[in-house]
Amino acid sequence: MIRYALVFALAALPTSALAQPADPMAEIIELIDARADQSADTARKLWEWAELGYQEEKSSGLLKQSLSANGFTITSGVADIPTAFMAEYGEGGPVIAILAEYDALPGINQDAVSIRSPIEGKGAAHACGHNLFGAGSVEAAIAVSKWLKKSGTPGRVRLYGTPAEEGGSGKVYMVRAGLFEDVDFALHWHAADRNSAAARTTLANRSAKFRFRGVSAHAAGAPEKARSALDGVESFNMMVNMMREHVPQQSRIHYVITEGGVAPNVVPDFAEVFYYVRHPAPDGVDEIWARVEDAARGAALGTGTTVDWEVIHGNNPLLVNEPLAKMMDSKLRQIGGITYTAEEQAFADGIYASFDKPNLKPGSQEEIQPYAVSLGYGSTDVGDVSYATPTVGLNTATWVPGTSAHSWQSSAASGMSIGFKGVQVAAKTLTLAAIELYTNPELRAEAKVEFDKARGPDYQYKSLLGDRDPPLDYRK
Ligand SMILES: [Zn+2]
Ligand SMILES: [Zn+2]
Repeated sequence: MIRYALVFALAALPTSALAQPADPMAEIIELIDARADQSADTARKLWEWAELGYQEEKSSGLLKQSLSANGFTITSGVADIPTAFMAEYGEGGPVIAILAEYDALPGINQDAVSIRSPIEGKGAAHACGHNLFGAGSVEAAIAVSKWLKKSGTPGRVRLYGTPAEEGGSGKVYMVRAGLFEDVDFALHWHAADRNSAAARTTLANRSAKFRFRGVSAHAAGAPEKARSALDGVESFNMMVNMMREHVPQQSRIHYVITEGGVAPNVVPDFAEVFYYVRHPAPDGVDEIWARVEDAARGAALGTGTTVDWEVIHGNNPLLVNEPLAKMMDSKLRQIGGITYTAEEQAFADGIYASFDKPNLKPGSQEEIQPYAVSLGYGSTDVGDVSYATPTVGLNTATWVPGTSAHSWQSSAASGMSIGFKGVQVAAKTLTLAAIELYTNPELRAEAKVEFDKARGPDYQYKSLLGDRDPPLDYRK
């Protein structure tokens, strides 16, 4: 019975379909699927290690090992950053860069379970899913290299291991060192609560640690002899908080007090506050920044303290490239969203129950969000890459719909199969996008025209962090 049905089915096919060779795209997808366990293993290891910015020795080491085992040539310690690297495969051009991140976030920590459950003794977590970012980009680079080899297509794929995205601007130093000068296109992706290749810009930003210094004395016995460094910080924050009312609508300013003294009866002679300033345009950041610096000076003057500051990081906004973004969107639709197993659904239900007002409905991990051009309020050092070479990225639903980045819920899903499924969607989509770029000269030309137009004729690269060296110890 079954045999007859098969014969009938074959007979119904046109002969040309039978004669055709295997679909190379299906083959490449199969290859990525076949490595799913390795990819999940990499993502899980990075998640467990949760290494902070510029300290990602084990994480970058593991990614390099996978790439090297697959025939990539590795250059380590680029841009004077020990945990930055490049891994290249292929000959000639075009050169396509795939970015990989792997730094964790301090101050948050959560096990891969659906209820709030910190892991004792752990001070950091992959709450931005950079463990997934690293694993997925490496898988895409490996798949692209296999395709380059099999198809005999000229071109190189180069994976950029980019440390310290969270407040360290690792990529900015790599751009500044000229490492993207021969790159034709850069691809990236990010963990998210949804699948989307919408062309989303980000805000430019700059951060600095403002350090106030005063004089210590007994807070009750000899207060007149003391000048409180914490008073400096508090006056500074007060002035900046008043300033908020008088800055452009799309600005963002936030701070944490990183040192404010130890005992109330010892007037602190040192206090530190760590500030971020963001605006859609680099010039907008500069304007607000000058006022923030004035407020710091004013606060020091008024409290009899002194202040100095160290710029820690700064990113340009993301330059969107619509021809590339539309292409990425079509590849993502080709790959499709994510379906949960019963076990994953139970995990997702648990996470979803912890949200107050989720902005996405359950099940939307199966869908692809509509294509649009929009403004995001975060910042990323991919921005600086996007001004060096035409750049495009996507998000995949590595987290339960409604999850915010930098939350315990994002950290939880980044360490289990829901996150790992998002990695597979990203790896496949990036691979198809790279293949499209190698094989479609019209798209390449169109994207480059768009890039030149968007940057403007007299464009000069300017980093928002100035000429400082990588702050290799900023998380120590
Ligand atoms: Zn983040
Ligand atoms: Zn991130």
